[in-house]
Amino acid sequence: MSESEGIARLIRPNLTSLGGYSPHKSPDTLKERVQAKDIIKLDANENPYGCSPKVRQALASYSSFNIYPDAGQTELRQLLSGYTGIGAEHIVAGSGSGDLIDLILRLFVGPGDEVINCPPTFDLYRFETGISGGRLIQVPRDENFAIDVGAIKSAINSKTKLVFLSNPNNPTGALTPQEGIIAILDTGIPVVVDEAYYEFSGQTVVPLVNRYQNLMVLRTFSKWAGLAGLRVGYGIFPPEIADWLLKIKLPYNVNVAALVAVRESLEDIDYLRERVKDIITERERLFGGLEKLGFLKPYPSRANFILCSVLDSNAPKLYQKLEEKGILVRYFDTPRLENYIRLSVGKPEHTDALIQALKQLGEE
Ligand SMILES: *Cc1c(COP(=O)(O)O)cnc(C)c1O
Repeated sequence: MSESEGIARLIRPNLTSLGGYSPHKSPDTLKERVQAKDIIKLDANENPYGCSPKVRQALASYSSFNIYPDAGQTELRQLLSGYTGIGAEHIVAGSGSGDLIDLILRLFVGPGDEVINCPPTFDLYRFETGISGGRLIQVPRDENFAIDVGAIKSAINSKTKLVFLSNPNNPTGALTPQEGIIAILDTGIPVVVDEAYYEFSGQTVVPLVNRYQNLMVLRTFSKWAGLAGLRVGYGIFPPEIADWLLKIKLPYNVNVAALVAVRESLEDIDYLRERVKDIITERERLFGGLEKLGFLKPYPSRANFILCSVLDSNAPKLYQKLEEKGILVRYFDTPRLENYIRLSVGKPEHTDALIQALKQLGEE
């Protein structure tokens, strides 16, 4: 049956033509094809050390899973206020920061509205804009993956509702200088600065939220705190935008397990910060190892991953061969990134196994 017949005829037309978001593969779907029994997962920027042990203990003894969470997120917003040092009236939490991207689009973007995106970047901005019915205006990064502030400003018109900026950028790893972000903020268009990797980069525009009524900063517990599977992220907004988002969100968008996990993670912040330091140290060691191989060009990163261009241009084959050895990395099937792979930073033993596997493949 074609899409002009049957149920597809009734589906919103902007969705029938939308290319899906391609998540990394779950190890469960791979087991048959991968011989190695211990899969090394370096494809989704997850925390190789897992969450704080306190989270596991607290969840094991938690007894109120039958009670709905607080729709107003009172305790959660208070905890996040303590962590970020900004008032709770600025904060809204979500089921991962992806949930907040969805909410922000619901708040600002409808069919015909335009959203500026700077590829190559996190694919969720494109995907969620497509779902909203908004039009994605692509303003590509330059050959060094820096944003083109002049081109962004020229792309703004009366239909522009939002600009997305991942900082540091996933998958390229570098930071945008603050002057560039300020130049975009000065246009008055709502700007989302996605700081999913803030704890690794140490750079933030949060202090600007008091000055710019159009600035929204997103953060997550998925990467630094090792809670990707529990889904908890948050945004820091001007209070007026925070109120709108609280009004339109699903009432119980953050589950009680996520709340407990945030509480315990912040109790164990020193432990988590040590793990972040370990990952940063390991990132630099991995970078050196990759450079020495001679057939990869790693890009300096301020996050917990490293993008590499594959100098003999056979990135898909390299990706496949690594998978056969039980090492999962990220390959992006897009024209701009077809010669690249992205490697998440693991534990030292993961780096050793990865470098060894790459050496072998380089000799084949
Ligand atoms: C991983 C990542 C996120 C986090 O998403 P969650 O929904 O919080 O797990 C957000 N933005 C970017 C750029 C990311 O790489």
